[in-house]
Amino acid sequence: MKSKVKLFGCAVMAMGLAVVAAPVTTVVKSADPANPYQTYTCDTAVYVPFDATTTVTVECPEPAAAEWIKSHFKEWFGKYGPSVKSGTTGLKPASDPEAYAASVDENGVKIAANTLTGARWAAYTLRQLVIAKRGTFTTEGFIMPKLSVVDRPHLEFRAIHLCWFPEVRPQQMERSIRLAAFLKFNYAIIEPWGMYESKKHPWWHWPNPTMTQAEVKRLVAIGKDLGITLIPQINCYGHATSARGCTIKHAMLDITPEYEPLFEPGGWNWCLSNPETQRILRELIAEMHENFGKPPYFHLGCDEAVNQTCPECVKTPNAELVCRHISGLADYVKSLGARPMIWHDMLLARGDPRWKDFVHCGNKETATLADTLPKDVIICDWQYSYGNMKEARKDWPTMKYFKEKGFPVAGCPWRNFNAMKPMADYISQIGGFGFIETTWHHLRGREWEQMFMSASKAAWGSEVSHGVSFQRSLRLVGHDMKITDYLDTGYLNYQVPPAWWAN
Ligand SMILES: [Zn+2]
Repeated sequence: MKSKVKLFGCAVMAMGLAVVAAPVTTVVKSADPANPYQTYTCDTAVYVPFDATTTVTVECPEPAAAEWIKSHFKEWFGKYGPSVKSGTTGLKPASDPEAYAASVDENGVKIAANTLTGARWAAYTLRQLVIAKRGTFTTEGFIMPKLSVVDRPHLEFRAIHLCWFPEVRPQQMERSIRLAAFLKFNYAIIEPWGMYESKKHPWWHWPNPTMTQAEVKRLVAIGKDLGITLIPQINCYGHATSARGCTIKHAMLDITPEYEPLFEPGGWNWCLSNPETQRILRELIAEMHENFGKPPYFHLGCDEAVNQTCPECVKTPNAELVCRHISGLADYVKSLGARPMIWHDMLLARGDPRWKDFVHCGNKETATLADTLPKDVIICDWQYSYGNMKEARKDWPTMKYFKEKGFPVAGCPWRNFNAMKPMADYISQIGGFGFIETTWHHLRGREWEQMFMSASKAAWGSEVSHGVSFQRSLRLVGHDMKITDYLDTGYLNYQVPPAWWAN
């Protein structure tokens, strides 16, 4: 990094802390060596009006860009917001579709982008820095620091993986999706955990699911407007319980035992020799794919499976059975016009010394899937740095392995925050597919903040042009949702566990 970096002034301003600090000029050049097209200059000594006296000039070959910015600035800033027009700016964004450039000074605001997508990211960057004008009782306009930025993403595919548990409020899911877009993720993989309201197979969910088809449609439309595509997931092999293994719950068999033939004894895996399983899963895939607005990807799960055990499945070699099952579903996903994704862990054998420090849950048989599965299945390699959560390794041999086998591979961290940036850099270096931040049951509190912030900085490759404050970003998302419920504020539902007052 060659820079005169003084982030302090900008970060303090963005967090809204009442700190009296000398004006600081923040100048960053080539903030990320892996993303040399990014430059950012933010002069926190000079705030300029961002209000009805301001004109925002948008330069973009897609006319929809200026219209999008106009309507959203109206939504965000109301009558005190700037006017927006199309025009030339003299700014030069990089050539890729998501790149943008922006400048803010006494003469107004300029945004240049190659697409509506790039223009959206520019608008988010600006919004994160706009604050209310000082000195009045209520807001009468806005101000923002003088700045210029040239920015583009490090990786093309930047996803967040979100789990719709029965315990998660639907509002929390919407907040997470909106926040992910605001932090410049462009995909959100949604795993239903027994909460998807299938019309075709209502037995496949818990009673009273909140992930209704109407809600999915609404969220997909919101995502589309905000620049984030929702990807559905079904666990098509292991994890068939739609519940965490440590709870021994089963979303289907606990309540509707008549569906037992579809699952292996115990219920963790689907029964792969039963032709009804393939039929049911295809019908569920079709239903969800349609409901999600026919997105370009579909995640088939496939993590943490165990060997098949039923008397019919054991007649076929396990690897052959599993390969036939996953390949069949992958082909079906492709017939719907989408690309299939699976988790990686069954493709790496326990006991193989090459994977000693890495996540691997397969055996010698399932490891052969790395040679037999169709090479266009995207392998989502989840590496969580178990045993060393502060790990900052720069090479990820499992990802290299899948790449060399011919698969598109995505790096998937979780709470190993230090590993995220090197992992994203490694994926870029080997020409990998993308980056998926998994969140599981930790979408709460400080971990929610760390997962979103560290992952967005890793995948986008920027330290400065977005997401300066999780707190402020989350609050803005709440404003957009017009939330009024106490439970939907902050990153925890309660300040004090309610049960504390019980006795
Ligand atoms: Zn079976």
